[in-house]
Amino acid sequence: MTDPAKIMQVIEDQRTFFKEGHTRNLKTRVMYLKGFLREISLREKDIMKALQADLGKSDGEAYMTEISLVREEIRYFIKNTYKLSRTKRVKTPLAHFPSASRIEYHPYGGVLLISPWNYPFQLTFAPLVGAVAAGNTVIIKPSEDSPATTQVMKEIVESCFPPELVALFDGDVEVSRTLLEEKFDFIFFTGSTGVGKIIMEKAAAHLTPVCLELGGKSPCIVDETARIETAARRIAWGKFLNAGQTCVAPDYVVAHESIVEELLEALKRNMALFYTEKAEHYADYPKIINQRHFDRLSELLSQSKIYAGGERQVEEQKISPTLLYPVQGDEPIMAGEIFGPLLPIMTYKTREEAEEIVHRHPTPLALYLFSESKSFQTELLSNLSFGGGCINDVVVHLANANLPFGGIGQSGMGSYHGKKSFQTFSHERALLKKSALIDTPFRYHRYPNQLKILKKVMG
Ligand code: NAD
Repeated sequence: MTDPAKIMQVIEDQRTFFKEGHTRNLKTRVMYLKGFLREISLREKDIMKALQADLGKSDGEAYMTEISLVREEIRYFIKNTYKLSRTKRVKTPLAHFPSASRIEYHPYGGVLLISPWNYPFQLTFAPLVGAVAAGNTVIIKPSEDSPATTQVMKEIVESCFPPELVALFDGDVEVSRTLLEEKFDFIFFTGSTGVGKIIMEKAAAHLTPVCLELGGKSPCIVDETARIETAARRIAWGKFLNAGQTCVAPDYVVAHESIVEELLEALKRNMALFYTEKAEHYADYPKIINQRHFDRLSELLSQSKIYAGGERQVEEQKISPTLLYPVQGDEPIMAGEIFGPLLPIMTYKTREEAEEIVHRHPTPLALYLFSESKSFQTELLSNLSFGGGCINDVVVHLANANLPFGGIGQSGMGSYHGKKSFQTFSHERALLKKSALIDTPFRYHRYPNQLKILKKVMG
């Protein structure tokens, strides 16, 4: 737990550091990022051990879904920070002759970054990279539910950055609350929709801009033209990754009634293939983060019809990959974000019916569509609103640094990754530079025939 007086001191030190211009030098920013990349490579084993302790993640899963994504983000910025920071020249209307216009990318200043527990390493360090590359100072508040990963991240931050540039404060919600009373220049939050609303309210008091990366119920639609075996393999992979505790995991499946049986069997087969018949005892299968979530998921399980899985290992807080079928729209499992390894499968007859099911949980973070029909894809994508997604795959859109990652409406606002991160953490400053040698007089009052000339020049 961090002392509030220490927090205040660090915030003050960061403000001074920024004001004095220490973050402006691009070479220094890139130098810090190179050191950061080196340290992550050196501490790879410790990071994996921590993710194993917090979530039971295997080394493979930890590398694929956490470490490699952060490494890619750092490498992207080592390569592109100079290019992204370049001032952009833009055209100027004739009426303002003689002048030149440009857009400059200026850092906001002090960034507050609050992160969750489900991908504690990636969801803390990926936005950090963009914030530092854009020239901000950063205060990090990771989740209290993943303490082992927080400890390693704290050590990495302390060995890579001076506290005036980046500081990490561990602790519970109280630390968040203390930080949120202070004025920051930008707040980047990843977490639940409910807490997102609190963050926005607190930010409003200081008119601080926010990027909110929230959750929701992400649908996965499978039509009758889909390649079922491939769809099932990919859905099973994406849903049960991190035992379903993934913000972009397919929350539920909406399958055409003519292929639902085939899909269920293929999902069942692939679940057993990836995690054995007894996943709840399989060492490489992650656990549920804490007792509260384990109890919540157990309750949902007891209220649903289980098609496959549904086994629990109470001591280790594990729940096996589970298919729930048949499911109706008014069941508890369809009421909120599941965030666990329970996959409800609903059916539809017509495209309109599938859309109606999705509309009941508006603006999800992700949407997945398995279909070989171009017209079905086009219709559905133009009728539904969601943060981002994939056609014929799940989850992987967030692993492409060239795609902005973020939600819409209930699932958040703003986005990041790669170039988009740089824009998110920068203010686009507009500048028009005019020559002081010539002064076109017709804009001033009482110029003869002003209106006629203005219409000619301004159109
Ligand atoms: P959470 O909202 O409970 O907590 C997130 C962070 O906010 C933590 O650091 C926590 O300490 C802090 N916090 C909690 N309550 C607070 C309060 N009242 N005031 C100030 N700070 C507070 O979320 P979680 O349980 O850690 O994570 C799960 C949620 O996050 C899910 O809803 C999931 O969908 C979402 N999520 C979204 C993304 C994304 O990229 N969009 C990624 C991962 C998780």
